Amino acid sequence: MPIELSDNCYLIHDPQGWFLWDTGLPDALAATPEGTTSANGALHVKRPKTLAGQLDELGVKPADIKAMAISHTHPDHIGNVELFPQVMLYVQKVEYGWPGADGAPRFNPNHPVTLLEGDRDVFGDGSVVIISTPGHTPGHQSLLVRLPKTGTVVLSGDAVHFKANWDNRRVPPFNTDKDKTLASMQRIADIVAKENGQLWINHDKPQTDAQKKPPEFYD
Ligand SMILES: [Zn+2]
Repeated sequence: MPIELSDNCYLIHDPQGWFLWDTGLPDALAATPEGTTSANGALHVKRPKTLAGQLDELGVKPADIKAMAISHTHPDHIGNVELFPQVMLYVQKVEYGWPGADGAPRFNPNHPVTLLEGDRDVFGDGSVVIISTPGHTPGHQSLLVRLPKTGTVVLSGDAVHFKANWDNRRVPPFNTDKDKTLASMQRIADIVAKENGQLWINHDKPQTDAQKKPPEFYD
């Protein structure tokens, strides 16, 4: 059954600087307004607005970004990493070293990177914490964000793709490890329950459609 997906990037403000979580599909895709089709017609992608343009509308320059992280290395999450060639990138060591097609590296080797082996409290104050949630890919990670008024939000990456999959603990067949995926879902569920938080599922379009978009924000 065809399904529409959202594909979000998240810009987070900390007193120590801006943090970018996931970078979406490449901005170059916006030059083709009708989008492109691949996988024998199974996949149709389009990008009506660019990430660069949306940051510009907010008055945020690439150089203002203090650090960034991607949930994993699938193309709909890493498309614009090189818009920010000087920005420190946080990625799990095992994801960074996961060979791409034809053994190609997954990132520009010149991009500054911090290789993680587990969790990382990005600013040291508990407000933005990368959490290791493998299974969708070998080094998949999610982001725990603690906002003053909104409270705890976990940004899913692709630990789960849709609310129905979350509710039923379904694991897509293309994930690299089923058991790790289930353990990661449980880990997220435990955090959300303990902190009375929310899970924001990146690709769940109904949830995305109901959320604030820039210039609105959550505080
Ligand atoms: Zn993915």
